[in-house]
Amino acid sequence: MKKFVNIYIRLSVVVILALCAGSSIAADIQDDFSLIKGFFPTADSVTELEGIPPSAAVLDGANVLGYVYYTDDVVKIPAYSGKPIRTLVGFDTAGKITGLKIVHHEEPILVVGIYEDDLQSFIDQYVNKFVNDKIKIGGKDREGYKSIDTISGATITVMVLNATINQSMRKIAAARGLLGPDGKILVQDEATDEEPVWVYVWRSKVFQIAILVIGLTVLMLILIMQDWLAQHPTLLTYLREGFLVYTVVFIGWYSLAQLSIVNVLTFINTFMHVFSWDSFLVDPMMFLLWGFVAVTILLWGRGVYCGWLCPFGAMQELIFRLGERLKVPSFEFPEVVHERLWAIKYLILLGLFAVSMQSLVLAEQLAEVEPFKTAVTLHFAREWSYVMYAAGLLLISAFNRKFYCRYLCPLGAALTFPSKFRIFEWLRRYKECGRPCQICRNECEVRAIRSTGEINANECHYCLDCQVTYWNAYKCPPLARKRRKDESRGSAEKQAKNGTQNVEFQR
Ligand code: SF4
Ligand code: SF4
Repeated sequence: MKKFVNIYIRLSVVVILALCAGSSIAADIQDDFSLIKGFFPTADSVTELEGIPPSAAVLDGANVLGYVYYTDDVVKIPAYSGKPIRTLVGFDTAGKITGLKIVHHEEPILVVGIYEDDLQSFIDQYVNKFVNDKIKIGGKDREGYKSIDTISGATITVMVLNATINQSMRKIAAARGLLGPDGKILVQDEATDEEPVWVYVWRSKVFQIAILVIGLTVLMLILIMQDWLAQHPTLLTYLREGFLVYTVVFIGWYSLAQLSIVNVLTFINTFMHVFSWDSFLVDPMMFLLWGFVAVTILLWGRGVYCGWLCPFGAMQELIFRLGERLKVPSFEFPEVVHERLWAIKYLILLGLFAVSMQSLVLAEQLAEVEPFKTAVTLHFAREWSYVMYAAGLLLISAFNRKFYCRYLCPLGAALTFPSKFRIFEWLRRYKECGRPCQICRNECEVRAIRSTGEINANECHYCLDCQVTYWNAYKCPPLARKRRKDESRGSAEKQAKNGTQNVEFQR
């Protein structure tokens, strides 16, 4: 208990320090003056950001040269990473764009062989265009539109950048009173005939969406037929291991659709501020996965996601299974320690939630406690400290099954809360489970079965191992007893029948 209190105190200190640090990362336009000088070479100062939406005037003495702003202060369109790209944009008082610089993004561009310079070259194409030009990607200029070249392999990123720059420029220009081409004052929320980014993205990802829908349908069938499959353990093992490989390779490494606690924090934050479906629809894979998770949580609990659909969870489980086949020795903490360690993930969740109330940006940085970005989104192509952390957790999972899931994962902890509303209890138990039989408990993937036999639904990963044992008449003691009874009754009946036949024969 003392150890537990110590851990709690240490975590609280980290949270408080983090909260204090929150204000120090707030953006300051003055810090970017050297970039602004690049947009306006004669500038000698810049005002603070002001107005709604915020922008700053760039000055040469008392003379206003133009305006600068950060795009994500104006429109927040999530890109591939699920987060908006922060770009500093400047235009002069005639509305001519003088410069753009991406100051922060979390796009996994390296994975597809794209470099920062490629992104910068892409946005440099906007320079010398006007804020009221409608800029589109690809094709030729047509009436009312100017075309720029795309970056092949980074379609979503450039679509989001284009929509963000187009929309934000017009809003700032309107707020600063710039005139449109017809001499009227630009309107901030001008309707556009452009297709919403998410519609384009859904159309461009038909193949991925189809493969995901097929995968989710297969999983749904597995869950519905769980009793029958548990009675065919070899088939279930093939299906499960095959599905885990699909989860790692297709959902994780190929589609980069690893759910994260950051999605939960962003959702809560968006819900409390300005809710927009667009921000969730822009990534169809994440949208479909979250939708599926929401439904399965209500029907079966959080275990369906953690046991089948989480790429990092699947990696750990596959590594453990491989270790088992290679006879790598495993270890388990004593029961009392194991149950206390469960609390850590809830404390991490609480800390992240508290920080997110103060600063979502800081909470996202602290959410690096999740190794997902390193192991899944960035394919381990990252600074060595992150790689060591993620690889270390995977290595531990070879000895201690799903160590990260059991004790550290804030997403797993967050998913337990809606699981309280689950409708069905489809994992079967005998009254002898736990009293005295402990077979399932010792086999459980995440040790979610209490010594008294009840399944702790908060911790269960729905691997179905206990259900395989439940139906195994040679392993499960109550069922084995029944089998033996049936067999002895059967042989008695057979003997009796043979005896009757012999008598009839002698007659
Ligand atoms: S506990 Fe976390 S890492 Fe483990 S399967 Fe669930 S979400 Fe994934
Ligand atoms: S063995 Fe049973 S209780 Fe344990 S994780 Fe699997 S389904 Fe859940």
